[in-house]
Amino acid sequence: MTGRSFLLVSIFIAFLSVLCSAQTSKLDRQVAVTIDDLPAGMADRLPAVEITAMTTKLLTTLRDQKIPVVGFVNEKKLYKFGEVDERIKALQMWLDYGFELGNHTFTHMSLNQVELKDWEDDVVQGESVTRLLLTPRKMRLRYFRHPYLDTGRDLATRRKAEEFLTQRGYRIAPITLDGWDWAFAGVYEDAKKRNDTALQDKIVKDYLAYHDAVFAFQEQLSAKIIGYEPRQILLLHASNLEADHIGELLDLLRKRGYRFIALGDALEDPAYSLPDTYVGEEGTGWIDHWVISQGKIPQGAPVFPQWVLDRSRELHLSTGQVSAPAPN
Ligand SMILES: [Zn+2]
Repeated sequence: MTGRSFLLVSIFIAFLSVLCSAQTSKLDRQVAVTIDDLPAGMADRLPAVEITAMTTKLLTTLRDQKIPVVGFVNEKKLYKFGEVDERIKALQMWLDYGFELGNHTFTHMSLNQVELKDWEDDVVQGESVTRLLLTPRKMRLRYFRHPYLDTGRDLATRRKAEEFLTQRGYRIAPITLDGWDWAFAGVYEDAKKRNDTALQDKIVKDYLAYHDAVFAFQEQLSAKIIGYEPRQILLLHASNLEADHIGELLDLLRKRGYRFIALGDALEDPAYSLPDTYVGEEGTGWIDHWVISQGKIPQGAPVFPQWVLDRSRELHLSTGQVSAPAPN
């Protein structure tokens, strides 16, 4: 190679590597996956044997794809006569497969609907079995997720609850990405039970499309509000919909340039220390918290498919996981 062609090749390689690194930095999105309402969102409707099958399928996909996950538990769902052992075993599988468990209160109690003291008691009651499972593994309960994302109707209550959680050793687990998978999951469960595969396909198509739209919207909104896209935290729920289709959702995230990180790593993002004075009747995600804390009004979010809500109402499903008539 002549000196001149060597120079040209070197310049070309340098140019390529600049291109590649620009591409990589543009696509270096990070997300932590969290799954709520363990052992299952619809634990009252599902027999233990189905909860075990659902859990096995869900965790196998997550483990095979090496996705770090924290699952948040409502221990009340363990107490069904004749099924307690099997339900606890389903919960234990999360640890056996290498995942972590956090507290989501005993009964899935909304801080916005009860007295602070009662809510605190529900937090404490939600620790017993989970702690029993964690201790032999030298793990401890360190994350807490507010049911319905209800963080308090007034700032005094919110701050007192936060202080209570901190004193009990918890780090609050915020969320920034939420495609209301639980609302799709209820309708999916019914379609699956009836072997209505056409409806299942339609639900999955809309579930993926709506999540994609939510991801795009929150990416843009976060960049606008805090100046960059933070390490996101995704909220999902333990359900047959996720057991059957979480792989497609993970692919969708990869296509958007995400890699999967642990919740603890996501929380190191300074975004989660930003001023947050959000209070309200309705719980919401942390990007909304930041928007509202800046005195702005969140608007323009993608519209949730109405037919899924209508179908949920027909099936009397909408009360299972929401505090208000309008799902949240
Ligand atoms: Zn929940």
